[in-house]
Amino acid sequence: MEKFKKTDRRDFIKTTVKGGLIASVGISSFGSILESCSSSKNVSKHFVKTGFDQIPLPYNYDALENVIDAKTMEIHYTKHAAGYSKNLKEAAQAEGAEGKSVEEILAQLSKYSVKMRNNAGGHYNHEMFWQCMRKPQENNLPEKKLSEAINSQFGSFDHFKNLFNEAAKTRFGSGWVWLYADNKTLKIGSTPNQDNPLMSVSDIKGFPLLGLDVWEHAYYLKYQNKRADYVDNWWKVVNWKYVSDRFESLV
Ligand code: MN
Repeated sequence: MEKFKKTDRRDFIKTTVKGGLIASVGISSFGSILESCSSSKNVSKHFVKTGFDQIPLPYNYDALENVIDAKTMEIHYTKHAAGYSKNLKEAAQAEGAEGKSVEEILAQLSKYSVKMRNNAGGHYNHEMFWQCMRKPQENNLPEKKLSEAINSQFGSFDHFKNLFNEAAKTRFGSGWVWLYADNKTLKIGSTPNQDNPLMSVSDIKGFPLLGLDVWEHAYYLKYQNKRADYVDNWWKVVNWKYVSDRFESLV
């Protein structure tokens, strides 16, 4: 039985990697995640087991030129995001959370420190952010099912984009903007610092489908104070295949 399980999991990860999804996912703790979430409908079948280590970027630092420059990507990944991963491990060790997935920690954040909140959030958000992007494409639009859901919820893709852009431009200081699913209803919202909708302590709650980092470190080298230009340009690099996979993985 144990042997079967291991094979099963290895095959799952292999399939997942082949499909271009993140490697650090699995289904083994799905049940416990379900129990720990206030709303079981906000849980994905697959995206429930992010580890503490950074997974390799799925592209080179210069892959997102001329939307996000190589230097920004390199510093963002190797300095900022690496820092969240390192500090998350420290906090997990100090607070007895080793062996848990990041999702489990986020679902029970009130048990942990501010250091854990900032770094578990920071690590999760960035691991997701890298996967949410790919080489720039013109006419970059969501896959069919997600596209239909967006049209039905927001009227049109353009209207959805306008609402998301507005949330990105008006988030004061550092934070994130999200397209997230709350019981399969699509919503747009933003969070301060490294908070996200999976956190038990977050103002907005649900399963994040697409996240945009609006911290200055994400765009300042190329765009300086022009956050709006960064946000407008960013739509060209959204990896809609990945975002759609997250949407379709919802229970
Ligand atoms: Mn960042």
